Amino acid sequence: MKKFQASRGTVDVLPPDARRRLRLVEITGEVLGRAGYEPMETPVFEDTELFARGVGESTDIVQKEMFTFEDKAGRSLTLRPEATAGICRAYTEHGMHKLPQPVKVWTAGPFFRHEAPQAGRFRQFTQIDAEALGSDDPTLDAELILLLAEIFERVRTGPSRLRLSSLGTPATRADYIDELAAYLRAHEGELSEEVRGRLEQNPLRAFDADHPGTKAVMTDAPRLVDRLTTEDAEHFAEVRALLDAAGLPYEIDSTLVRGLDYYTRTVFEFVSERLGAQAALGGGGRYDGLVEELGGPPTPGVGWAAGVERMLMAAGPAEQDHGIDVFVAGTGRDAFVLVGQLRSSGLRTQMEQAGRSLKGQLKHADRLGARWTVILGDEIEVKDMDTGAQQRAESVDDVLGMVGA
Ligand code: AMP
Repeated sequence: MKKFQASRGTVDVLPPDARRRLRLVEITGEVLGRAGYEPMETPVFEDTELFARGVGESTDIVQKEMFTFEDKAGRSLTLRPEATAGICRAYTEHGMHKLPQPVKVWTAGPFFRHEAPQAGRFRQFTQIDAEALGSDDPTLDAELILLLAEIFERVRTGPSRLRLSSLGTPATRADYIDELAAYLRAHEGELSEEVRGRLEQNPLRAFDADHPGTKAVMTDAPRLVDRLTTEDAEHFAEVRALLDAAGLPYEIDSTLVRGLDYYTRTVFEFVSERLGAQAALGGGGRYDGLVEELGGPPTPGVGWAAGVERMLMAAGPAEQDHGIDVFVAGTGRDAFVLVGQLRSSGLRTQMEQAGRSLKGQLKHADRLGARWTVILGDEIEVKDMDTGAQQRAESVDDVLGMVGA
């Protein structure tokens, strides 16, 4: 018989990890809810063209990583590799630009990228995602960064560095890329083979090189943050001032480019100091042209996404199960009804459901971490599992009183 296994790059989330994930999403909703972000959901697959246009034709995601398939009518669909494009589509489709702006939303769920799996990198992974559409106010950029930092704090992901930069407008970026390519061409002899090969395609990659000669050339390379228009530079200065005022440390990193085409102005990324090669916990930025690019009205926007698996990896192993309140050592309908009453009164209650002996049941109650065990025999006994003291109960009401139901 064929042995089935989860597909490459996918994971089963077993207890107690699944509970931690739910808790993480709950925390996200609490933190974002206080700032006026409302939950929303978009479909897991969309028109392929949405991602090609939204994420950018030249990006790794669109070129290599999308799970694309045809439906029965021959339409090309793609499993969402990220959340922002879908949210921008929904914003336009449902006329959300007519609502009071900004529209603040968040979502959580599965995303799909056909990458080479490794520790912290999967083909199906889970993101939490927050977006604010309809305003370019720098307080939104700063607010979103601070909210993500607060979520990391609440989830206890441990120390991370915040890398921050501004990409300006697409026009600034295009001019800058020409300038950088010209600079690299002028120093071609000192560059690594690899950087030379990609010089025309993606000169920004040169900033990531480990090659000593390339690194030396890059220390004096022109930087995009120095080429911003006055307006973009002021916007960036205000975002920084707001983060300073809030006391959140960051590093200006002019090499931060991120793998999606839609960013304008602010970009940022939190990098965990606890994780290895795949250390980016989450990141995002502003995308003032995206909604329009997808056929909507001109609409500024800013947002982030963070990886749930990576956040939980950084936070360390799951805490032990927090146990149950009452174990009913007994079988049959009386036990079943009593369990129902105990549960209705809010107590986490289990009963014997695997045919153990009384001795086995008491051992099982202990293993489950029960606070009380109710032993149903000819008499009803209630055992305090902390002290070991055992007391007779005269009636079911008596039991409920003794265990604090
Ligand atoms: P991105 O949309 O690429 O900015 O990703 C945002 C966050 O999602 C990253 O910082 C990671 O935490 C997480 N992430 C992205 N791709 C993957 C993946 N293939 N596997 C696991 N987590 C991922």
